[in-house]
Amino acid sequence: MSFADLGLEPKLLDAIAAAGYETPTPIQKEAIPPALENRDVLGIAQTGTGKTASFTLPMIQRLGRGRAKARMPRSLVLAPTRELAAQVAENFEKYGANHKLSMALLIGGVSFGDQDAKLTRGVDVLVATPGRLLDHFERGRLLLTGIEVMVVDEADRMLDMGFIPDIERIFKLTPMTRQTLFFSATMPPEIQRITDQFLHNPVRVEVAKPATAADTISQRMVRVPIKDDRTKRAALRELLTHKDVRNGIIFCNRKSTVDVIAKSLQKHGFNARPIHGDLAQAFRTETLDKFRSGEVQFLVASDVAARGLDIPNVSHVFNYDVPIHADDYIHRIGRTGRAGKKGAAMMLVTPADAKFYAAILKTTGAEEIEALDFSVFFEEHAAGGGHRRPSRDKPDDNRSRPRRQPRKPEERKPEPAKAEASSEQPKVEANKEPPAPRRRRSGSTSAPKRDNAEPIIGMGDHIPDFITRAVAG
Ligand code: AMP
Repeated sequence: MSFADLGLEPKLLDAIAAAGYETPTPIQKEAIPPALENRDVLGIAQTGTGKTASFTLPMIQRLGRGRAKARMPRSLVLAPTRELAAQVAENFEKYGANHKLSMALLIGGVSFGDQDAKLTRGVDVLVATPGRLLDHFERGRLLLTGIEVMVVDEADRMLDMGFIPDIERIFKLTPMTRQTLFFSATMPPEIQRITDQFLHNPVRVEVAKPATAADTISQRMVRVPIKDDRTKRAALRELLTHKDVRNGIIFCNRKSTVDVIAKSLQKHGFNARPIHGDLAQAFRTETLDKFRSGEVQFLVASDVAARGLDIPNVSHVFNYDVPIHADDYIHRIGRTGRAGKKGAAMMLVTPADAKFYAAILKTTGAEEIEALDFSVFFEEHAAGGGHRRPSRDKPDDNRSRPRRQPRKPEERKPEPAKAEASSEQPKVEANKEPPAPRRRRSGSTSAPKRDNAEPIIGMGDHIPDFITRAVAG
């Protein structure tokens, strides 16, 4: 079956050919024909399946007829994160190259003024994160009564991030006559309830989970014998220098760990940059662009920031931390091995991760993930740092953060606006990443540099609580 068989018009077929696609993916085959008939579609599919084109192509065809009015967008795509929204917008640009559609992207971290000016001129396609969209709506800058097509992308992720009340509210602001294209990787009861309420007789399209996509991804793990952050970082560096590693995304469970690892890698001469939800949007965009262009080799990322990113040609995914949610493992490793290319995923597993590791095996249906033999490395590492004290089981390794390196101002965004904090700041990430414990002043001022430091003897920079506590009586 070809794209022409799906009922797409020649202008779109040209854009598809220019994108280099020859045959439609399963979700495109099943979702595009009913979407072109203006039917509602419920697509159960993950990223990597070609789902973005399955809604953008029919939307472009439909919106090719008619004109936009000021402040009344004709279609709306809701995405959970800024990066994902930006990616959808790129898809519209790519497939809509031969159409004259106007588009606005409403995401946090971008000035209201520019977005507002576009809305005033009138847009055919509005791509937005829920928080920013409602911000504009509440300022009276936009009306949703002209929406002909509404798309909800990655609905289950929206649920994880606490966006479902926003989505319900947005649905209610759009006309009942709209066409709805709704995508979710899974269908938990809350999502089912939303689709029952807001979709009209939808065509249900379900495509295989990327457990099958993982055929192109070789998965390996390294058993780190102790939960010691320095040993973990050393093991990570060892993995990064593996001969086949061209570039990679390194996932951490916490934003604070992302910062620590990025800095540590930079200190060791690796070309790495962090990306997570607390970094300024301009910095995140620049980092992604540089990673895409090859200027940056390693992206150190949190789950939410990297969710759904379509970055072609990622040779490796590294799980510095075992993900707490097994689903995140699938999403993480899905950043490599895309579009049929070969990819590799490597994970560091400490004894403390046993429960999460078992959950990953259950979800992926694998009996084991092949372990790389790092016994010599750990022996040598232990021998080299004979008296190294394993770090205590703290939520994050702040003590070894290179000291007194003031964060560059552009890397931090200012205090988030209220709506940003309440809705666009991903709640799940906030949950996963509690604030790092404050460093003890006395310890940090005398701390030696860690990663290259002489073996630490005795207590190092750490002063146990009992020493600082006043003696009773
Ligand atoms: P998505 O699931 O929408 O994130 O798409 C995953 C990747 O597949 C993107 O890089 C798309 O450009 C690519 N893609 C989408 N449709 C096709 C197709 N029919 N043939 C080849 N690649 C495609």
